[in-house]
Parts: sequence; structure tokens; C-alpha cells
Amino acid sequence: MPTTVVWLRNSLRLHDHPALTHAAERGGVVPVFVWAPDEEAPWAPGGAHRWWLHESLDALGRSLQEEGSRLVLRQGTSLDELKAVCEASGADRVVWQTRLAPALRRRDEAVREGLEAAGVEVRTFAGRVLHDPEQIRTGSGGPYRVFTPFWKKVRAQLDPGDPLPAPDLGGAAPATWPESADLDALGLTPEAQDGVDWAGGMRETWTPGEGGAAERLDTFVSQQLLHYDEERDFPAARGTSMLSPHLHWGEVSPRQVWAAANGWVSNGVTREAADAFLFEIGWREFSYHVLHHFPHMPDAPLKEKYERMPWAHDDDALRAWQRGRTGYPLVDAAMRQLWHVGWMHNRMRMVTASFLTKDLLVRWQDGERWFWDTLCGGDLANNAMGWQWAAGSGADAQPFFRIFNPLSQSTRYDPEGDYIRRWVPELSALPTKHLHAPWTAPPEVLEEAGVTLGETYPHPIVDHKEARERALEALKQVNV
Ligand code: FAD
Repeated sequence: MPTTVVWLRNSLRLHDHPALTHAAERGGVVPVFVWAPDEEAPWAPGGAHRWWLHESLDALGRSLQEEGSRLVLRQGTSLDELKAVCEASGADRVVWQTRLAPALRRRDEAVREGLEAAGVEVRTFAGRVLHDPEQIRTGSGGPYRVFTPFWKKVRAQLDPGDPLPAPDLGGAAPATWPESADLDALGLTPEAQDGVDWAGGMRETWTPGEGGAAERLDTFVSQQLLHYDEERDFPAARGTSMLSPHLHWGEVSPRQVWAAANGWVSNGVTREAADAFLFEIGWREFSYHVLHHFPHMPDAPLKEKYERMPWAHDDDALRAWQRGRTGYPLVDAAMRQLWHVGWMHNRMRMVTASFLTKDLLVRWQDGERWFWDTLCGGDLANNAMGWQWAAGSGADAQPFFRIFNPLSQSTRYDPEGDYIRRWVPELSALPTKHLHAPWTAPPEVLEEAGVTLGETYPHPIVDHKEARERALEALKQVNV
């Protein structure tokens, strides 16, 4: 019976996994994960990623065991470990789901060459995205840089088909199981990383793994999808799916999400509601499309003239933003939500990114890196797309001169102040009228609420009006 190694990276699931299904149909299956963060530099998994990965590998290992299989964990150089696993198990083929991040693509190509040179066959399978970035082209044959025509074209020809069931792995054990490292030995947990358990909020919020992903998807499509369009902009509501980390780690495939949302259309959800959600899945497709064709997107502006932006290089401002101490309650609430649960609401991502790059004039790459380190679902394509969108330099970006006013965003999207009160509890006793801009509250109101500006909560670190003018002045150097 031929044996196949399934090399897992961010496809940590059993369902709808074409590479795994192929391996199971062929004979023996050896699922392998190799921890090799140096190969992913400069975008190796961040701190929150590592916490999630530990939990997700744990869940996957248990699922595989229930199916009569195992998860083989290795640490070292991917090529060497895969060759060793093939040798130990007698596998003659290695398969994996195609990876689209630039460092992973380069690494995978080198691994393919190395395996083939060693006489091991390699096959790769799609599944990370719904479209094939090489097949979707503009009329003139190039890649898309604008979302609307891209999505129109993709949707017109999209036929992802039904998700695959989990393969039967019961009789697919290899003749010999290769050795596996202990999960704890990979050192992914916060205690192992820096000796501090900062993951409490993440543990309360998430259930990493395929089971947790399936439950979240099911709850979302059955209970929230119908109201997605009306509620998705309000951070205090549970209006969005919170699937991003599950999608990032491949605990659920985009095809499964696509099928689940469409499956509810005749079941109480309107076509419009489903489409509003699938439109966002479309942005995910677009991010990957652009990353595939412009692999420098995470590091450099897509519009080159933005290289001329005279950034402020202000470490104090960056630190205040990272810690949720800018003095703007909505911005601070969002940054603290991010730190606490490893996720931030989409509108808040736009608000905080605008605040960093425009009000504070700090480089978008610094914000992108912070998100990468703190988001459980920090995703190279979506993160770079989001930051370049906010900073005006990306594909189909918001123009730089459109600068969010943090106060009007606050009164509009958190009108009752529930989100601010949840994440900035030292302001919770302030009346809603003054909550969005505590520095405008009369002294007796602040006193009654137990707020002392500069002590219990910071003064605003910039004046928005002045900061806006400074940003527009800076923009002139981009547009010379
Ligand atoms: P939902 O609204 O339920 O959307 C469902 C899925 O669609 C998401 O899980 C995501 O995969 C995709 N999606 C939604 N909005 C977008 C978008 N604007 N661009 C691309 N895909 C989208 N998303 C990430 O997955 N990882 C990131 O690291 C990331 N960084 C971002 C940084 C900035 C500055 C901005 C503005 C956006 C970023 N996004 C990122 C996109 C978006 O904010 C998140 O995908 C979304 O908030 C995740 O919450 P959700 O799963 O509840 O989204």
C-alpha cells in the first residue's frame, strides 16, 4: 500500500481537505506538521499566532486520534524533517495545500525540489482561496488592482462545488509511524515564550480547532447572518462571524464558509444578507490575489509615491497607541480589545489604522507588525491589504486625505458607549454624552465619575484637528 505524507501548515482540518482526501484514497496517510518559524521570516508567526497554533495542533491531534490516525509533530528544517518522515514511514509522496504567502511559496518550491531530488513525488492542491490567482486576469491580461471588477469577474465564473467530507483514516495507518515531538516541546504557549500567561482573554473567547470553527460558522449562519449587513459596523454587537482566525489557520475552508452561507439562503436568510457577507469573503480573495501578484505588499507601498511620505517616527506615540492610551476612548477600547482577545472588530481596525497613520503619522508598517504580533488571525494578505487600504498606498485604497474623525466614528458606531465601557472601564461611570471625549466634560462630571485626566486616563495625545492638518501637509510631499 503506497503511503503519502500530508504536510500541514495552515490547513489544520480534516473536512474539505483535498490533499488529505487524496492521500487517504491512495493508501497510508502520515499527517505531519513541521515547526520551522525561521523559514517564514520576516513574517514568522507572532505571539498570539503561536498560542492559537498550540491549541489548534492539540485539537487536530485529538481528532486524528479519534479517527485512528496521528499527528506527527517535528521541529527543524522542513525539507530535512519531511525526508526523514518519508524514510521512516516508507512514504513515496508528499502532498500539501498550496500556500500563497511569498516566504512560504519560496520555501515550498525549495522543498519540492529537494524532495523530488530525493526521489519523493510531490503534489499540491488548491483550497486556500476560492479563485485561482493565475487564472483571473483583467482584459489586458494583468492582475486586478481594483476590487469591484475583480469580484464581478470571480463571482461570474465561481463554482467552488461542495465541500469534501472528512476522509476515512481508519485503515490508513502507515506500516511504521515516524517519531513525533511532544507538542509542549515546540514552546508555543505564552509561558514557554516569555514566562507570562497573557492568553487568559483569548482562552475565554476562542475554541481553536476544526470543531470550534464549525460551531462558530454554524452559529453565525443560523443566527447572525440575516442581520449581518445592519450590524456589522457596530463593535458592541456580535454582528460579524469572528471566523478570521479559523480561516487563517485553515480550520475551516473558504469553500465551507461559502457553502454554509449559501445553504441558508432558502432557509430564512435573504440573498442580500448572504451576499453582504460573501462580499467580505470576496475581499479576502482579492487580498490573496494582490499578494500573489505583488508579493512585496506586506513590506512596501503598492503606490510607490508613498515611499516619500515623511513619517513621524514617534516611538512614544506608537507605544501609546499599542497600549490603548491615546486619550481617544474608541481607539483605546479597540487597542485593548486586540491585546486582550487577539481580535479586533473590522470598523475598529479601520479607525485605529487611520488614527496611527494619519493622526499620529506613524508608518503603516509599524501598525501592521503590531497587528501581526497580537492578532490570532493575523493574515499576511488581509493584514497588508487592510493597512495599505488605510494608509492610502494600497490597491483600491481609501485616499489618504479621507481621515476618520475618531469622535464622529465613536458617536456613530458606539452611540451608547457600550464598547468603550467594556474595554475602558476607568471611564465607565461617565455619562454617554461625555464618554466619547472626556476632555470636554465639566470638572464636576469627571470628578463624579472618578476620572482624573492625566492620572486615571490620559489626555488626548494629539488634537485631531491639528493632526489632520499635519497629515494633509505631509501628503503634499507624496504628491509633488
Ligand atoms: P466578517 O465580517 O465576519 O468577515 C468574514 C471573513 O471575511 C473574515 O473572517 C475575513 O476572512 C474576510 N474579510 C472580512 N473583511 C475583510 C477585509 N476587509 N479584507 C479581507 N478579508 C476580509 N483580516 C484578517 O483575516 N487578518 C488580518 O490580519 C487582518 N488585518 C486587518 C488590518 C486592517 C488595518 C484592516 C482594516 C483590516 C484587516 N483585516 C484582517 C480584515 C478584516 O478586518 C477582518 O477580516 C475582520 O474584521 C475579521 O472579523 P470577522 O471574521 O468577524 O469578519
